Amino acid sequence: MKVLVAVKRVIDYNVKVRVKSDQTGVETANVKMSMNPFDEIAVEEGVKMREAGTAEELIAVSMGPPQCQETIRTALAMGADRGIHVETDQNLEPLAVAKMLKAIVERESPDLVIVGKQAIDDDSNQTGQMLAALMGWSQATFASELKLEDGNAEVTREIDGGLETIKVKLPVVISTDLRLNTPRYASLPNIMKAKKKPIDKLTPDELGVDPAPRLSVLKVEEPAKREAGVKVESVQELVDKLKNEAKVI
Ligand code: AMP
Repeated sequence: MKVLVAVKRVIDYNVKVRVKSDQTGVETANVKMSMNPFDEIAVEEGVKMREAGTAEELIAVSMGPPQCQETIRTALAMGADRGIHVETDQNLEPLAVAKMLKAIVERESPDLVIVGKQAIDDDSNQTGQMLAALMGWSQATFASELKLEDGNAEVTREIDGGLETIKVKLPVVISTDLRLNTPRYASLPNIMKAKKKPIDKLTPDELGVDPAPRLSVLKVEEPAKREAGVKVESVQELVDKLKNEAKVI
């Protein structure tokens, strides 16, 4: 079985994101970037299949500027076999990513594509679903458990108020939820080995996709600042403030 994982380079989840002064977007210059956390989970799941012998090959794909190669190298150090980098400086929307993934899926013919449930920068939660629709494949989103058996995937999904287990036929697009696994840290020897693993370079043009955005961002704003709390001396004072100041009771 061949498995393809999509890995996006995003602002590191520990970084305090700052809005640009002209409100056209967020500051990315000199900001630490890392692999989208849900994609680390996707890579880990693929590596586990590789180790179990369920998968013969694991390919990591990333789309974006030259620095995406670092994100692919991280996936290779975790255990992916090879990488594909679609290089573009264009700001990519989920539809463009899904179309380019489709073109790569048609070249590589994987049985399984694993993506993150959402990228923590755009919070779109669209790419996996769009890819499944474009391919006419099954999809299982928000996976918190995955079992493969006889050409089917049994996927436990996190839904409002509980868990749902579904069975889908391969080929399938799966999107990862937080509880699917705990991604490993790449060891130093594996980081060194990853430097020798191949990364193919492609352009959107070679994949026959026009990556131009369909949306234009009008304005990006910081969330409203929360006011500091106050300490009250008694229950009576609390009730009084809720009634007369906050006017919520
Ligand atoms: P989104 O639909 O933007 O929330 O992204 C969902 C998932 O699609 C991510 O977790 C990645 O697995 C994949 N993805 C989105 N954009 C890219 C990209 N530029 N390169 C590689 N994978 C991507």
